[in-house]
Amino acid sequence: MPVPLLDVNAQNHPLETDLTAAFIRVLHSGRFILGEEVEAFEGECAAFIGAAHAVSMSSGTDALLAAFMALGIGPGDEVLCPAFTFFATAGCIARTGATPVFCDVSPESFNMDVGSAAARLTARTKAIVPVHLFGQAAEMDEITAFAAQHNLQIIEDVAQSIGATYRSSGCGTLGGMGCFSFFPSKNLGGFGDGGLVTTDDAEMAEMLRRIRNHGMHPRYFHATVGANFRMDALQCALLRVKLRHLGTYTAGRVANASDYLERLSKLPGVVLAGGDGRAARLVLPQAGAQMGHVWNQFTLRVIGSGQRDALKNHLTACGIGCEIYYPVALHHQECFRHLPAHAIQACPVSESLTGEVLSLPVYPELTAPQRDEVVAAIAEWLAPRRLG
Ligand SMILES: *Cc1c(COP(=O)(O)O)cnc(C)c1O
Repeated sequence: MPVPLLDVNAQNHPLETDLTAAFIRVLHSGRFILGEEVEAFEGECAAFIGAAHAVSMSSGTDALLAAFMALGIGPGDEVLCPAFTFFATAGCIARTGATPVFCDVSPESFNMDVGSAAARLTARTKAIVPVHLFGQAAEMDEITAFAAQHNLQIIEDVAQSIGATYRSSGCGTLGGMGCFSFFPSKNLGGFGDGGLVTTDDAEMAEMLRRIRNHGMHPRYFHATVGANFRMDALQCALLRVKLRHLGTYTAGRVANASDYLERLSKLPGVVLAGGDGRAARLVLPQAGAQMGHVWNQFTLRVIGSGQRDALKNHLTACGIGCEIYYPVALHHQECFRHLPAHAIQACPVSESLTGEVLSLPVYPELTAPQRDEVVAAIAEWLAPRRLG
């Protein structure tokens, strides 16, 4: 039985009746841009996340860009962000004209190392972007203290972590703004692109609403330059159906991850992140203390030169979907080669992770027999090779 990395149909097809009803509701309303469905979705998201305000956007990328624009970040400014994340985190900083300054990450959590950020602080640093990577919160207490000390804005990149918590607080409520994505592979996966910005600041929410609509206020008057970052009413209506099930989806991811952790940790050569790494061949991801991990990805580290690619080839040959998130650290991307030297300093942990990481299927609808296959294929790969 093939085990895909993600199966959107397994999640969406059972909702066909409700999704069809939502489509028909929008069709009959004739209201496709902004309006009731958008406002209802935003209200439901704000309640779910625990933020005072939520402003929907055309994608997670545009959510980040709008957040930077709302803060007035631009040429001459520097913004700290991890070197080990999806490109959009840094791409949006660069698009404002500001300079992304890449920080290293922790090999245990894959999230931003505050010490590395502190070492890259300059008089131009305006903001810091913790990314809650793979479904787990960054070390927000340390980041918040560091940001407060140096008067930095915090923009959380929550694209992979809707519903995740840090010491019982929802990701997206811990900084000044939280940016979410509804790309189909995210934990609340839509039917196309969509995004959201959360904030507790009413004025900031109003600014974000203007920015997503050309900076227009009142109609045809533009005091600031915005863009078209609007999310479709149809997308909002469809996602309202799925938001009601997000708790169940998350529980499925958490159960799949604990099953993997329990069974894989018993195999020879396998250790948990933070454990004794000597002689380890595989390092399993761990939810940190007081982290509500939502497992957007279940990401292993495969130790030893060439070993990650060998395991990836083996799993692929077994019909098991797996992927490398991410194969290139951002400070090594060609488009950032021209940045000042301090922005693209060495990030040794990020650099080694790009050669070690491998993400396994962990989506909520994954079945027990499918997990058995994944565990068996990894056990087979770890077993001592027979000669001949
Ligand atoms: C997916 C993602 C984004 C961008 O979201 P889109 O909706 O695809 O534009 C930004 N940051 C991170 C960490 C992501 O994983």
